[in-house]
Amino acid sequence: MAKHQFQTEVGQLLHLMTHSLYSNKEIFIRELVSNASDAIDKLNYLKLTDEKMKASLPEDWKGEINISFDEKDKSLTIVDNGIGMNEEDLIASIGTIAKSGTKSFVEALTGDAKKDSNLIGQFGVGFYSVFMVASNVDVISKKAGEEQAYKWSSTGTGEFEIIPVIKESNGTVIYIKLKDEEAQEFASKYRIKNIVGKYSNHIAYPIFLNYQEEVSEELSEEDKKAGKEPEKKLEKKHEKINEATALWTQPKAKLKQEEYNDFYKSISHDSQDPLLTIHTKAEGVNEYTTLFYIPKTAPMDMYRADYQPGVKLYVKRVFITDDEKELLPTYLRFVRGIIDSEDLPLNVSREILQENRILANIKQSSVKKILSEIKKLSKDEEKYEEFISQYNRPLKEGAYQDFTNKEAILELLRFKSTKTELGKMTSLESYKQRAESEQKAIYYIVGENEKVLRNSPLLESYKKNDIEVLVCDDKELDEIITPALQAYKEWEFKDITSCEPPKVEQSEEEKKEVEEKFQDITKKIKEVLGEAVKEVKVTNRLSDSASCVVKDASDAQMAQMMQMMRAMG
Ligand code: ADP
Ligand code: MG
Repeated sequence: MAKHQFQTEVGQLLHLMTHSLYSNKEIFIRELVSNASDAIDKLNYLKLTDEKMKASLPEDWKGEINISFDEKDKSLTIVDNGIGMNEEDLIASIGTIAKSGTKSFVEALTGDAKKDSNLIGQFGVGFYSVFMVASNVDVISKKAGEEQAYKWSSTGTGEFEIIPVIKESNGTVIYIKLKDEEAQEFASKYRIKNIVGKYSNHIAYPIFLNYQEEVSEELSEEDKKAGKEPEKKLEKKHEKINEATALWTQPKAKLKQEEYNDFYKSISHDSQDPLLTIHTKAEGVNEYTTLFYIPKTAPMDMYRADYQPGVKLYVKRVFITDDEKELLPTYLRFVRGIIDSEDLPLNVSREILQENRILANIKQSSVKKILSEIKKLSKDEEKYEEFISQYNRPLKEGAYQDFTNKEAILELLRFKSTKTELGKMTSLESYKQRAESEQKAIYYIVGENEKVLRNSPLLESYKKNDIEVLVCDDKELDEIITPALQAYKEWEFKDITSCEPPKVEQSEEEKKEVEEKFQDITKKIKEVLGEAVKEVKVTNRLSDSASCVVKDASDAQMAQMMQMMRAMG
């Protein structure tokens, strides 16, 4: 018998699961079913690509998930015939080696139990949610193609134990001994059906509920007349409780938004409805179906380098991978959904995906489609504000990275500006429309703090001339990206800290006169400031303030280059 200690982070996590994250306990079924489905996906894929694996499986092997419960025993069991886990897998996946997800999950917790329980699935720590309801859990598993099976057991405190056991077929059995106070709720036919229907209806494999039910025998008319009592007996039930259809294969006209939403929840671990649903069937040179969603709230890991991609690839309804970051460009990493291709070979190896032409085509059209649907969304002001509050930033990255779609992305971006109220934003198109006819540039200022920027003395001459200036207060990003945007519909982007101010209402003579008048004082200032500044000169930039600091155009470029180099490591 081998006892193991949970790794510190896992221990912390388990403590949280059992003591604070109890607002939405039912999701443990969603998480375990999702793991079962992943395990079948993995074996499905190996069966197609690995001859040895194919040979070791029965000819008619088909993935399925079985759930059973026992009221008296206060237990619930979830069984799959997927890839299974050997001893190392068990230790690595559920126990000692904290995945990066575990640590970032603990870091991201807000203390708000409801919010935090939504994070569970997103951070790949779903398995542990079972300890919200379990007093003890056994995971009995046999890895496909291997001989020995193992049993992992734990009460969810401090340690777990692994012993070799006998199990006939590949796959995993999760035996959950429910806490006394949870037994009545979860060892129940109606409750399980309801939870599976809610979260796992469109899992691609059938989910069966197995239970015993008391049924009364049918009495004949004679027996009824004779007043005979019907005999009661226990009958075994084996009932399919999900649709098990790949939702995206159904015709759009047949699907209700509610079904789309349910499917979204089952693939995204999100409990909110999506903000946008985009279902596309393409026929022609390439035949494929895509179903994309934009979440209401940006995924928690959107700004982490090790973010989990949200799009799964299928070939003819067979799952291929959910770990391919190249299916969509990185700036669309918040999109969730699936791509199902009819043209890729079923045994396509994950390695060659990146160079695949078919996939590159799908990617290109998908990006166009997603951007055009976001454009449509922008007509709904309220919804679009929601969208922008979450995704303006990744889209800005897109305007910088995706040259082909730059114009379309620029149209989607929103900016704070001197002509919008605090907290409101403008599109570049409206900026152009508001501008006076001779203006041919988009002026902007970059800095850290919106209020400070709005009060900058540099804005004075623009205000006086009624020229709108974009207020870019996401300094880190805007400093690199905004100048690189170059132009929107031939209107150049100009940084007001380095460009010439717009209208010069002084003649050359007047200018000289003023310069001479102030010669002594500018000289003195330069002496005092010394090397700290390059030059002190008289300007018509300002109207109310006495002086300001500006960047030299070429210095500014230099500074940006250096920033960019730093950002690229
Ligand atoms: P995630 O599913 O996001 O990876 P989980 O905490 O839900 O995170 O599961 C952790 C890991 O445990 C999985 O990645 C998988 O390797 C393994 N695992 C869990 N359940 C099963 C199962 N039924 N069959 C095979 N492997 C499983
Ligand atoms: Mg999981």
